[in-house]
Amino acid sequence: MLTRNCQETWSQFLEYIEEHASATEVENWFKPVKVLEATEQQLTLEVPNIFVQEYLLNNYKKELALFVPLQADGEPALRFAIAPTAARKAAPVSAPPEVAEEQQIRLNGAYTFDNFIEGPSNQFVKSAAMGVANKPGKSYNPLFIHGGVGLGKTHLLHAIVHNIKKQHKKLRCHWITTEGFINELVHHLRTKSIDRMKHFYRSLDVLLVDDIQFLQNRLNFEEEICNTFEALLQQSRQIVITSDKAPGQLKLSERMVARMEWGLVTNVCVPDLETRVAILQHKAEQRGVALSQKVAFFIAEQIFHNVRQLEGAINRLCAYCRFLSQEITEEFVSNTLGELLLPTAHKAISVEDILSSVATVFDVRVSDLRGSTRTKEIAFPRQVAMYLAKELVKGSLSKLSASFGGKAHSTLLHAWNKIVLQLEKDEPLRRQLQMVRRHLATPHQ
Ligand code: ADP
Ligand code: MG
Repeated sequence: MLTRNCQETWSQFLEYIEEHASATEVENWFKPVKVLEATEQQLTLEVPNIFVQEYLLNNYKKELALFVPLQADGEPALRFAIAPTAARKAAPVSAPPEVAEEQQIRLNGAYTFDNFIEGPSNQFVKSAAMGVANKPGKSYNPLFIHGGVGLGKTHLLHAIVHNIKKQHKKLRCHWITTEGFINELVHHLRTKSIDRMKHFYRSLDVLLVDDIQFLQNRLNFEEEICNTFEALLQQSRQIVITSDKAPGQLKLSERMVARMEWGLVTNVCVPDLETRVAILQHKAEQRGVALSQKVAFFIAEQIFHNVRQLEGAINRLCAYCRFLSQEITEEFVSNTLGELLLPTAHKAISVEDILSSVATVFDVRVSDLRGSTRTKEIAFPRQVAMYLAKELVKGSLSKLSASFGGKAHSTLLHAWNKIVLQLEKDEPLRRQLQMVRRHLATPHQ
């Protein structure tokens, strides 16, 4: 029975939600819900599908408990009924126009392979992406690209799309963010046109999904994406996925992880000093601003976390440079970028500084770091010091390795590679490195 009182309670709940949730959320999750029956003891809601039911319970249980009848254990006394499905219609093989338009706008025209500067940290992943773009479905499938934020994953994904659209005009290629996919799924579930969406996705030749990590803890959506992947892979249609973590580190089902690991899993790492310099110069040139090699090194030595930061720095510099009509010198950079730079901006870091800071943080002796003891307690900090030397100190590899007691330059390169890979998954190491960098940045007598 639907009492006037209970209907009012539900309306009050909706009013409360409209004030506290976003308009999209209200539209997607609350508007489609109807009160079917309400008694003093229980409220029965009609929902279009199980996703809406789960969403309400997972995200709004506390709020619901303020408005609806409660069970003895304090939980909201709710029952859900799934609305009957609409008659199935033959589905046209095209994306809903509003979705297609949105995609057009968001595909970044500057994210091309030509604009993607390569170096040891991303050479392999770039060539894998180019391989997929040249021969979709015939090389690595799926191609899974993972890496930290701002390292160029989305850039590569868009570059693949540009290439396919140019070289393989007949292929049905579609890229989407995971958030976008979920929103689309919700939209089609609500408008009871899910078959249309399934048909669209399963008829694609190439599907690219950005930021799959947003699928974690969203079990029902995961199943739909996984089914789509399986359907496409069975027909050798190309899939490209990006993520901030490797498949095995994502909180996703074993089935999903297995599908993603099926093809090639590859990662983008933080670019080394030379690549950062090349990126800075490329970006400055694109903006029509001259940046000398010396100044580019000066910036790249101090901004090393990711490419997005480098880009932020170059944008700011170019804007100031045009505004003030000034040449970009080290002094100009220090004044303009200020807090973006390490506090040691004006002082070049030497291998000696690094050895001394690493020795302090890891509690070992500088002489041990220079020596050849191979016990883990010494060898590991030594590799960290070698990594930092390559990152922060100007000079050839042979010159740098000579500062480590005359080691071969391949030893230094090996150490750098090892630490770069380990940094991807080793949070304590990231923190230790931060401590070393902070120690380096603090003036010492
Ligand atoms: P992610 O998706 O990994 O977080 P993005 O692809 O959004 O990173 O990259 C962040 C910014 O850095 C973008 O503007 C991109 O063009 C730029 N970028 C990243 N890597 C490179 C590179 N190797 N060469 C040129 N630009 C790059
Ligand atoms: Mg991205």
